[in-house]
Amino acid sequence: MKAIIGTGISACAHASLNLEADFYDKARFPGGRMSSKPFEGKFFADIGATYFKNSVEIQKDGRIYKRSLVDWLKSKGIQAKTYSLDGNSSMSFCETGMQSIAERLLSNKTVHFRKELKKIYKTENDKTSKFQLEFTDGSQGFYDEVVITAPLPQAIELLPEGEIQNIWKEFTSPYNHYRKTLVACGYWKNLNSKTYLELLNLENKSFLRKGNDAEYISIESSKLINIDNVSQQNREFSIRNQKASPFDSEQIKDSGIVIMIQFSEKFSESYFGRWKSSSGEPTDTCYEQFNLQINKFFTGLPSPDRVRSHQWKYAQAENSMLGKTGILNLEHKNFKDYQAIVKNSGIALTGDWIYGPRIERIFMGEIERISI
Ligand SMILES: Cc1cc2nc3c(=O)[nH]c(=O)nc-3n(C[C@H](O)[C@H](O)[C@H](O)COP(=O)(O)OP(=O)(O)OC[C@H]3O[C@@H](n4cnc5c(N)ncnc54)[C@H](O)[C@@H]3O)c2cc1C
Repeated sequence: MKAIIGTGISACAHASLNLEADFYDKARFPGGRMSSKPFEGKFFADIGATYFKNSVEIQKDGRIYKRSLVDWLKSKGIQAKTYSLDGNSSMSFCETGMQSIAERLLSNKTVHFRKELKKIYKTENDKTSKFQLEFTDGSQGFYDEVVITAPLPQAIELLPEGEIQNIWKEFTSPYNHYRKTLVACGYWKNLNSKTYLELLNLENKSFLRKGNDAEYISIESSKLINIDNVSQQNREFSIRNQKASPFDSEQIKDSGIVIMIQFSEKFSESYFGRWKSSSGEPTDTCYEQFNLQINKFFTGLPSPDRVRSHQWKYAQAENSMLGKTGILNLEHKNFKDYQAIVKNSGIALTGDWIYGPRIERIFMGEIERISI
């Protein structure tokens, strides 16, 4: 039996192959860095990954295959929408929030939330014994195989001390660097109708501004479904019953708007500790910076009624083994060495440190890896 630690997109790849496994996550919801938060009971905003590309090319068995994540999701009953980012590319997203991809793919699996893995134990030199998983609440589990999808610095700490940990530590050291990212979402309860419609009718919903402090700006409420007081548990139900479409402004009765900013690495490094108070609320610095950046972009917008913020300590793997773009080469020597370590140790560490921090690469890459 297999244990999978995490319920993000890496874990979803395992879930969608219908292999038997128990899933554990320290969080209360699935999705990991594919996380969507409710906003004032009316909107969802993606605060981690916000979009993905349709397809990825994979090199395997001496050939290059094109794999479509949009088609894969469709086969599982998940519809992706596409939109143009800064007018030059076709991006996909889920109008019920990126988190809902994980909710759907894991819906018929055994998932244990609020279960934080503390340590894995294994009797040295005993290839036949099971892995003993110890959780922070004192409970235990025994498994033949373990897949850890947590970011590398956290994953390494969980491994059994001794040979297994040392081998993994040495092998993964070139890929251990993650960038930090700060995110803030502003909510305007009732914008004057002119500004509201101007924002809603912009051709693009999201804007990439590489090299600026505010690196990515997205009008999340025009992208994601208006949940209109529907509770998280009833979200599926409301979608089935055709609630307002986010692209049809006439159907959105509420003139509230949510705009999300993802800050650059340089900015995030210097403001990281000043972003949230000890009680989890955004600090004055966060409000100031959000207003400053939003006004550079949308001149004349008043201060939002509320800001929510998030600190991603391990936002994105910087030196992934198979690169961040281009063909995913599963014939690469490093990848073959990796597969050998997985086989010998009985533990697989996986995620964006292998495939690059892109949803479609992680998902399709992991599916192919398991199928080899
Ligand atoms: C702000 C931001 C924006 C991004 N934007 C994009 C984008 O637009 N497009 C894109 O393609 N990618 C984007 N990315 C990258 C993408 O989100 C990640 O690469 C991807 O989601 C990683 O998925 P994963 O399943 O490998 O890891 P994660 O999603 O991190 O999943 C790991 C899971 O393990 C759980 N976990 C960790 N430790 C333990 C433990 N000890 N016990 C139990 N559970 C544990 C965590 O709670 C988590 O749910 C973005 C990332 C961030 C942070």
